[in-house]
Amino acid sequence: MNKDEVFINYLLSNRIRKLPPAHANDVYQLYADKYKKWISPFLNKHNIEEIPQLLLLNTLKKTPDFFIIGNKNFFVIDYSMHRYFYDINYIFSDNEFNEYIVNAYIKLYMEKAYLKERIDFCHCLCANTTDIEDYKLTNSYRNDDTIQYLCDKTDLQEMFLLLHEACHLLFCTFDKNVKESEGFQVLKDNLQPIIKINEAVNVDDEFYEECYCDYKSIFYTLEETYFSTKLSNEEYFSLFFLTLVNVYVLQFFERCQNKSYNAQYNFEYDRIALFSMRMANLHATLFNFLSAHNQNDEIINKLTSVYYASLDRAADIFSKAHQISQCLEEEISNSISEYEHLTRKDKIYYIENYLLLVNMNI
Ligand SMILES: [Zn+2]
Repeated sequence: MNKDEVFINYLLSNRIRKLPPAHANDVYQLYADKYKKWISPFLNKHNIEEIPQLLLLNTLKKTPDFFIIGNKNFFVIDYSMHRYFYDINYIFSDNEFNEYIVNAYIKLYMEKAYLKERIDFCHCLCANTTDIEDYKLTNSYRNDDTIQYLCDKTDLQEMFLLLHEACHLLFCTFDKNVKESEGFQVLKDNLQPIIKINEAVNVDDEFYEECYCDYKSIFYTLEETYFSTKLSNEEYFSLFFLTLVNVYVLQFFERCQNKSYNAQYNFEYDRIALFSMRMANLHATLFNFLSAHNQNDEIINKLTSVYYASLDRAADIFSKAHQISQCLEEEISNSISEYEHLTRKDKIYYIENYLLLVNMNI
């Protein structure tokens, strides 16, 4: 085994691999095409000739990543992210399905617990929620037209997230001087009014980098898709805001797995304030794009109302996510003793089957 393989295996063991889908080759081809269509031209546009090698994964971690081994760059796409966003888009596609958000978040919570090796907790949660994905057995979830429509939406969100990551890659490896560039300084200036409103919050370099990556990736996504999308303006705009909301939920659930983290009292004031500022930055970026392309007032007004509706929805989603984490921590922790008779190995075996993971034969 060479050094590359050792590192890649280490990375995989950290992320916990899911079983490949039935048509794994088709999925690989699909993502090779997405990579060629989205990431390569974006990097080329920023004078990067040598495009990193694509590493396609299906893991519990879900988030994209990049790394360097020797002088070789790798870009990680984890296509389980697509499934996460797809389910949330389905759930929000009709008021009738909205209650399933609890199911989707419990599933996410158990995955994050397993990633943190909380075997007893995760096993107990799996054993107590065996019907959590039954809503996917319905005709509406499996309808071909629904699938196409939801895939179009989810693809846009995925494009935004992958380009955001590609932008971090630009910062870290190819263009270390970007923070001195004119574009970065202009964005920093533009953010000042937003920051003023939240002056109690500590704004650091990382925050500016996140906003710059959002700005770059959204602008590029808009240039490539705004004039060709079949979605209505409202649906199209709200997708970007909803992406950020659900990335925050994912990160929140990751932090909830740390024993030292106490989600009891708040959803972290600082993080929510930073989140609001990133939402305002998304709004400003969309607004600037529309203005630059002479879009009429009616469309601009639609953007504004979508933005405010998305903030309300975010507050509602965060409160649900907070309640779910509190409720699970209390109830599941009280039930763990019911499974004392099982060995750790038994529990892992159960979880691996439940979450459709690659069997590690521990
Ligand atoms: Zn980022």
